Amino acid sequence: MADEMDKTARVFVAGSRGLVGSAIARRLQGEQFAHLLTPTRAELDLMDGRAVDAFFAKERPEYIFDAAARVGGIQANNTFRGDFIRENLQIQINLIDAAHRHGATKFLFLGSSCIYPQLAPQPMKEEHLLTGLLEPTNQPYAIAKIAGIEMIDAYRRQYGFKGICLMPTNLYGPGDNYNLETSHVLPALLRKVHEAKLAGAPSVVVWGTGKPRREFLHVDDLADACVFLMRSYDGDKLVNIGVGTDVSIGELARIIVGVVGHAGEIVFDTSKPDGTPRKLLDVTRLHSLGWRARISLEQGIAATYRSYLAGAVHARSA
Ligand code: GDP
Repeated sequence: MADEMDKTARVFVAGSRGLVGSAIARRLQGEQFAHLLTPTRAELDLMDGRAVDAFFAKERPEYIFDAAARVGGIQANNTFRGDFIRENLQIQINLIDAAHRHGATKFLFLGSSCIYPQLAPQPMKEEHLLTGLLEPTNQPYAIAKIAGIEMIDAYRRQYGFKGICLMPTNLYGPGDNYNLETSHVLPALLRKVHEAKLAGAPSVVVWGTGKPRREFLHVDDLADACVFLMRSYDGDKLVNIGVGTDVSIGELARIIVGVVGHAGEIVFDTSKPDGTPRKLLDVTRLHSLGWRARISLEQGIAATYRSYLAGAVHARSA
């Protein structure tokens, strides 16, 4: 058994086809891990407890990156409320419990900045968890994630389970969801501005007032932080993963318009919800552990746009 996560370790990335899991898998593939386990949904249904148990018995993963979750933007969270709470609870219970029972070395759980109260002081510190009411549009998702954090903490205290909980801010990068009904704001605006440019449309519609503020982290930075903390951190305290600065949705739209190179006007549709007014993480603990984000928002959006264009060309020729 590997005592540290070197390239001989048996590493399982749950959710390896998603935005986060695929970035973690890419990061580990870059280090040439010999036993990287990245089953597809067809190979392993994470909502099926027996299947997850059989997978652990057979493959004996030592290090588990739990990047498996049902995720989505403001509208998807608000519409599929039942699916968001059921699927997230079920997946994390199956994974955490199997990792414990099969004696895994270490488990990394990813939460979200939406676990913090809607009106938490900004920037949000890890201690703000469970100090106030949640944002109603994504409460089922947030409560599932909070249950995961509590389960890791409870297993750590009762069984000595080595689980760590990281709370990423809003993420973006290659392989994101570009479906306008279910996506997050950054990929949605990238697609809308790109399509407006192609169509020569005079304007692009942005939901809400454009005033809410959000922090955005490139998923390759998150993957790097996950690998770094899997190796170096074994505390019971949450760790926020962010860049430490935010932009308004209006500013984000202007950056995207600049990257895509479209001269259109930005129009705000105030019939759509704004959600939380501000979501910025305090990253003091992360910095003190020795990690900082490296990819700037402009660089990250430009790289994401290039991969979006490559994907669009690929989809057309498929
Ligand atoms: P949130 O961070 O959980 O609120 O999720 P989102 O990324 O979906 O939305 C962030 C903010 O961007 C909200 O204020 C949305 O109203 C706003 N927004 C503006 N245009 C869009 C859009 O086209 N899609 C999405 N998902 N959000 C948008």
